Amino acid sequence: MSKPKKEEDVRFGKFGTVSFTTLTKVNDFIDHLQNGKVMTTCCKECNTTFFPPRADCCRCLSGNMQWREVTGSGKLVSYSCLKFAPMGFDSDLPYCIALLDYGNYRVFGRIDSAFDMNEIKIGMDMATIANELPNGRINYVFKKT
Ligand SMILES: [Zn+2]
Repeated sequence: MSKPKKEEDVRFGKFGTVSFTTLTKVNDFIDHLQNGKVMTTCCKECNTTFFPPRADCCRCLSGNMQWREVTGSGKLVSYSCLKFAPMGFDSDLPYCIALLDYGNYRVFGRIDSAFDMNEIKIGMDMATIANELPNGRINYVFKKT
């Protein structure tokens, strides 16, 4: 029996409580980041915004989505400063992960490493900013506004 092509391998579709996508349909997220924009998706049918971006709406099951920029500031609602990290992230330590509330959606990510951990306060305004890493890769970080 031949092994299915990677594109056709849907085994992860069985994983977890809700549907789990086996391949991403939101690769444009990376193109937007390279252009300096943090984007996410919003459902055109029920107006629900998601982060990270989704290609399909889990509320109304529509695939009719549009890109929307994560702009302005969110309120810091939770954070944790890590002294231990998963393999591959050891050299980043210490770093802080956090959750920003943008009103009708929330963004999970890291606080900019240049930010003084002692100044982090619940409720502070932070922005989600596209960020180039020293090795040329990209991500996004939270910065004080
Ligand atoms: Zn929807």
